[in-house]
Amino acid sequence: MFNMGAEPRLTVYARDKHGIARSSISRGALKVCEILQTHKFSAYIVGGAVRDLLLGVVPKDFDVATDAHPDDVHRLFRRSHLIGRRFKLVHVLFGSETVEVSTFRAGEGGEADEHGRLLRDNVYGSRVQDAARRDFTANALYYDPHDETVLDYHGGYADVRKKTMRIIGDPILRFREDPVRMLRAVRFAAKLGFSIDPKTRAPIRELADLLENVPAARLFEEMLKLLLSGHSAACLAQLRKEGLHHGLLPLLDVIVEQPLGERFLRLALEQTDTRIQTGKSVSPAFLFAALLWHEVLAAWKLNEAKDMRSIPALYLAMDEVLDAQTDKLSIPRRLTTTMKEIWALQPRLEQRSGKRTLVLLTHPRFRAGYDFMLLRAESGEVPMELANWWTRFQDAELEERNAMLIPDAAPKKRPRRRRKSKAADLPGAAPVQDDPPN
Ligand code: ATP
Ligand code: MG
Repeated sequence: MFNMGAEPRLTVYARDKHGIARSSISRGALKVCEILQTHKFSAYIVGGAVRDLLLGVVPKDFDVATDAHPDDVHRLFRRSHLIGRRFKLVHVLFGSETVEVSTFRAGEGGEADEHGRLLRDNVYGSRVQDAARRDFTANALYYDPHDETVLDYHGGYADVRKKTMRIIGDPILRFREDPVRMLRAVRFAAKLGFSIDPKTRAPIRELADLLENVPAARLFEEMLKLLLSGHSAACLAQLRKEGLHHGLLPLLDVIVEQPLGERFLRLALEQTDTRIQTGKSVSPAFLFAALLWHEVLAAWKLNEAKDMRSIPALYLAMDEVLDAQTDKLSIPRRLTTTMKEIWALQPRLEQRSGKRTLVLLTHPRFRAGYDFMLLRAESGEVPMELANWWTRFQDAELEERNAMLIPDAAPKKRPRRRRKSKAADLPGAAPVQDDPPN
């Protein structure tokens, strides 16, 4: 670990120097610190929140670091629970706010795998050790709400001012301990408009393959953070630049070479970033469906070329793409189910005839499928006229809708037996074609 020799020197910044107003700290975080301090523990706001406040950015959430043991924290707050994934943390709830409280950790003494990856990081330590085990200098600042000082052991204050992401300690060692830190460097740099310090950046390309040893679920989590950062386009561009995208999303290799795919992806990311930046929600399933769409299209075409019927060829393509993806970055099933629904709606939305078109309006994923088709139209993959048709169709009255439907082509061989019953005229009652093959 870092700092085998002398202790890093502590610099304390007073209120008039750092300029962070106590009023910009969330009520919950202030309360947690206050109660811990009343019980003679030390407690600080740490991590991203201090960094963001120095930058004048509203923090996403507030983390608190303390010398109190998780059990003590849990005992002090009625509405709290212990979270025990990679290490023990406490989530303290205040209304809709969750404050994450972590006990100072040493960052050493844990188990590592043969590549140097820390398998556990759960040895408690002092504040100075806790600062050294954090990833970047800008993320290792401690704000004490009681006296309004900012404590800095690693030059994080200056790095925030210089807009530099700098790893604490030896970059190779720290990236080996946790290769996800490479992705974090890219995310923070892209999101905050920081540059990555040259010494921190230098080994990244060479160490990129270490991401393969990271559990797929953790990679997914990190990738989601990156995509939902409000700066996904910049993040992905920087991932490519650092050579970190290989294997994570194999499509990123191919996509730049396909003009339509590139445009589609760019539009999807831009739309996501705009939504996040304007406080709207984003559906991860929609986003991943977009990221993998051109892979699905390519596999679909291949399957059709093998003489498969179109719809079974699409369903097979969806499974092929998702299976290939799962090795590296496993997308949870709750998302893949929705992704498949969005994809499967695409050929159905291209038909504008018959009852099954009306039925689509009641499909639980209609809205997502329609939004997805809008993206395809904007990228030039399907005619804009098709998208406009759906825009009008969904708002039209029943009579107008019927008039808009393109008459079914005359049946070629055996005519379908028509249903007589009235109920067949109601949306939802018509037989839906193109259902998945069993
Ligand atoms: P944001 O929440 O804005 O994405 P953050 O810096 O708060 O950014 P978190 O993932 O919430 O990031 O983590 C909180 C803090 O925990 C970080 O600021 C950092 O100090 C520490 N940390 C998180 N992940 C790591 C890691 N992989 N290695 C070392 N320290 C980490
Ligand atoms: Mg945070």
